[in-house]
Amino acid sequence: MKNMGLQHLKLVGPGEWFNEQCRRMAGKAIELVHSAQIYSSLDEALSGENVVIGTTSARKRKAKQRIHTPREIADLLRKYGKSHRVALVFGPERSGLTDLQLARCQHLVSIPSNLEHPVLNLSQAVLVLAYEIFSSGPTKSNGNLQLASDEEREQMFSDMQRVLLEIGFLNPRNPSHIMSSIRRFLGRADLTPRDVQILRGIMTQMEWYTAGRPAEIQNSKSQPADRLKLQITNSKSQTISESKTQKPKPRSVNKSKIQNPKIKT
Ligand code: SAH
Repeated sequence: MKNMGLQHLKLVGPGEWFNEQCRRMAGKAIELVHSAQIYSSLDEALSGENVVIGTTSARKRKAKQRIHTPREIADLLRKYGKSHRVALVFGPERSGLTDLQLARCQHLVSIPSNLEHPVLNLSQAVLVLAYEIFSSGPTKSNGNLQLASDEEREQMFSDMQRVLLEIGFLNPRNPSHIMSSIRRFLGRADLTPRDVQILRGIMTQMEWYTAGRPAEIQNSKSQPADRLKLQITNSKSQTISESKTQKPKPRSVNKSKIQNPKIKT
């Protein structure tokens, strides 16, 4: 990492890791090891990151999500510019990243390798990717683009999953199936904090509506989208739903009358 100018090391659930062997292997990069941040979950580790890139040997993956080359990832980083925090996520040596962990990354990268032996050793995979990023030159700032953080996106996905389950859109036995697809296409969308607020606002409104307030909506002088605009312009950090603190009791819905739209997957 140090050779290639990477500085921030985050470890998730590493167990007993700082031992004599680690000290010896680190050599002159020991301060990078000392400043490593330890987390108990991937969510915590990624919360402040704007762009999350998962690494995989792609051996076991069905080709659902586009897999980038290291060069393409280096180009992406240049596009996002200096003003964004970008995380490269590597899996444990033995098991790699799980499908769910990979689905939560906005972009995937695989180092091209012999199809019969595609899996690199973790440290080698880190070096190849770090080299590609380093050799593509310094990243300039990109004043126009400001992406949402991982934490903001994850809150949105959690709202989305809850509401889509509530309205019967997701299969409660396997919500992550469709959620992974939603994550995939929204991951390509470079969502800004405002985009995330709007999507969360739509979810809140759906939840509110299904809980039995359609009459109130019709009589209301301002439309939900207007309220959304007001609150987005009035408050920087508050969520859109804060004005509706009192939740009505849910309406009873005759589920047999509801026809779910079918999705081909
Ligand atoms: N047994 C695991 C191997 C994990 S290798 C498996 O079959 O998936 C450990 C980590 O090194 C991976 O999670 C990934 O982060 C990285 N890695 C290994 N080979 C890679 C490749 N070809 N491209 C990108 N990353 C790779």
